[in-house]
Amino acid sequence: MASRSLSRLALVAAGTLLASLLGSSATAQPADTPVFWRVPATAAQAAALTNAGFDVEEGDAGSVYVVGGKAVAARLQGLGYRPSFYDTVYKELPAQANSLAADTFYGGYRTVTAHEAHLTSVAAAHPDLATKYTIGQSWKKQQGQGGHDIQAICLTKKQTGDCTLSTTSKKPKFFLMAQIHARELSTGELAWRWIDYLADGYATDATAKSILDTTEVWVVPISNPDGVDIVASGGNSPKLQRKNANNTRGGCSGTNIGIDLNRNSTFKWGGDSNSPCAETYQGASAGSEPEVKALETLARSIFPDQRGTGNNDPAPTTAKGTMITLHSYGNDIIIPWGFTQATSPNDAQYRKLGAKYAASNGYLVGTNEETVGYDTSGTTDDFTYGELGVASVTFEVGGSSGTCGGFLPRYTCVDSTFWPKNKGALITAAKAAAAPYQQ
Ligand SMILES: [Zn+2]
Repeated sequence: MASRSLSRLALVAAGTLLASLLGSSATAQPADTPVFWRVPATAAQAAALTNAGFDVEEGDAGSVYVVGGKAVAARLQGLGYRPSFYDTVYKELPAQANSLAADTFYGGYRTVTAHEAHLTSVAAAHPDLATKYTIGQSWKKQQGQGGHDIQAICLTKKQTGDCTLSTTSKKPKFFLMAQIHARELSTGELAWRWIDYLADGYATDATAKSILDTTEVWVVPISNPDGVDIVASGGNSPKLQRKNANNTRGGCSGTNIGIDLNRNSTFKWGGDSNSPCAETYQGASAGSEPEVKALETLARSIFPDQRGTGNNDPAPTTAKGTMITLHSYGNDIIIPWGFTQATSPNDAQYRKLGAKYAASNGYLVGTNEETVGYDTSGTTDDFTYGELGVASVTFEVGGSSGTCGGFLPRYTCVDSTFWPKNKGALITAAKAAAAPYQQ
């Protein structure tokens, strides 16, 4: 996640105060190498910078981090800000980076094509465990411009009726999704590791066997394939595309194009950025993007509606289903709500579940306000919890700086750090699917 967007009130205030100062030229991409700049800023200033197309991230107290090259720093200075270097975006490549197999980039990260081949091979190797689904199309595919199907895999030891598109099938379900923000590179790799752990581990690992004997595990490893194509097109200098590839709005250029798929979901949509070139642009209407439609359709197809329609209606303690959407960065476990600073009606239960996840990965558990410090509306996890009552959280994988920090951690960090930390949390989520609100 990690791109700031502030509350509707802050956006209105900031727009009124600062739009004229910023002008419309702040959307161009820098030609020089992007880094993280630390920029002291108020919340209103941060919102204005976001809406003006600056790539603004969660920072430390009283500041934000802005991604960009020296030209961006110069523009910030021109607007009266004081940017100082915080960290690199691009990390040192592993030694073998230039001898890696095709279908990888930036030291080993898999392309969309590699992920597609992976799902196909897992399903072929484990017909008793794995079922592959096409759940929709990316924006480019829908436009006839190439693109991809959105793919999901369901893993369980199949009995009659398992892993079908059914809200009444017997086994509880854990839904993991990754890389809805394309540049958050480690997340798709974690989904890959999780799929392999379960499918390959069924024969030898008692925990993997126990999970697949009792639970359906649904995984969408690449939720934004068009975006990931753009990222991977940079090779060893991945492009910093966050949103999808829909370039029909706003005359944006470079990696400013697209709709933020984690601001476009239909539950309480509408409180985020209306500026098409902003990294948190929510789109023209709720659920406008085909990738979001695919994810919501899948969720509605496998989870029953277990929650009332009021903000204060809790999911009942008998509700089933867990969901984690993987983002980076921040080392956070973010619990609902996103769209409001109010805590959810299942807040105490979420904190217990979050503590169990944190026992594995050590991340900070809390609401948006308590973790990243900004509101979000139209997120996938607000949808699956708010609409369906599924116990849904965001993981922000990794820290903000260093070799294993930021959006583009060194590839070796996946296996040295991210997977060992998060494997246990994913196991916990699968085990909790039968009774997530009774942990
Ligand atoms: Zn993200």
